Amino acid sequence: MSGMPLASTDLLKITPQGLCCPPGGFHVDPLRPVPKALVTHGHADHARAGHGAVMATAETLAIMAVRYGADFCASRQEAVLGEAVRVGDVSVRFAPAGHVLGSGQIAIEAGGTRIVVSGDYKRQVDPTCAPFEIVPCDVFVTEATFGLPVFRHPDARQEVRKLLDSVALFPERAHIVGAYALGKAQRLMALIREEGYDGPIHIHGALERLTEFYKAHGIALGDTPKVVTAERKTLGGAVVLCPPSAIQDLWSRRFPDPVTAFASGWMRVRGRARQKGVELPLIVSDHCDWDDLGRSILETGAGEVWVTHGQEDALVHWCGLQGIRARPLHLLGYGDEGEVEPSSVELVATSTARPPLPEGGRAGTAAS
Ligand SMILES: [Zn+2]
Ligand SMILES: [Zn+2]
Repeated sequence: MSGMPLASTDLLKITPQGLCCPPGGFHVDPLRPVPKALVTHGHADHARAGHGAVMATAETLAIMAVRYGADFCASRQEAVLGEAVRVGDVSVRFAPAGHVLGSGQIAIEAGGTRIVVSGDYKRQVDPTCAPFEIVPCDVFVTEATFGLPVFRHPDARQEVRKLLDSVALFPERAHIVGAYALGKAQRLMALIREEGYDGPIHIHGALERLTEFYKAHGIALGDTPKVVTAERKTLGGAVVLCPPSAIQDLWSRRFPDPVTAFASGWMRVRGRARQKGVELPLIVSDHCDWDDLGRSILETGAGEVWVTHGQEDALVHWCGLQGIRARPLHLLGYGDEGEVEPSSVELVATSTARPPLPEGGRAGTAAS
């Protein structure tokens, strides 16, 4: 392609299936089956089954196979991080997103215009995946899950330290930690090891396959035995990881005097931890907080920002103050792992220190 620079809206459009690149002939993280999908990472809201062709990193393709079976699509193409390839009439390059193992941003370029679809990303330390890379671009497409100034994630290592301090303080109590099965759970395990804890980290059966997958990809997580239901009573003092839904389940009450913990960016909202019955909230997120969203936008040098979902309005407003054109895309259907998210009303209420709203009025799904 040559001549006039391509308008960004010709390079990437919103369709009912999600973001679409007509000159490339593909969709990015489509919500419904399409002929050709480019997938940023393995979380279920981004990586869905049933597409014709799928292009993604080797790890993401393998995660999709673990989750959906080997025949999750008709044909697949492996994207190598950092390597530009031609797809239709555009150039495509995957760059590390720092979100989960295999996660990538997707840079799409044609006619002198470059758009980067970041997928989900974070800037914090994560021993289990390649760190986020700044890709200079004209248009930066970002999510805004934690796009309010109230969201500032502390150092994840400090949160893991809190967990281990509690384990030392209550050696007779089991510590049951809710964590998303893909990424968060393995990141916690790796951080727990970095903090010097070398005992077994017991895991709920739902975490087993993906934990084994991480180990097979060379991530050292130590001894992670699966909890045997009949032996829960013997696990006083143990560290136990489980999916978030299990911390409120009968499953977790059979452990000796359990301390329930939950590792999520939402744990910044105190009412949220209380409402979930979480005794030990751990603010550990695989998404950017407010500061890292702004920093990343500025570092890309993008003159234009598209905000896919989350707290779009606040981030769009902030961009305006920086002289960056921004627009909310209001994409529905994204939010990791089907966790229920507090309404923005509740967030505002919490950030102004009013009492939390009663149950109800919640909608949509959320991220970790
Ligand atoms: Zn994700
Ligand atoms: Zn997501």
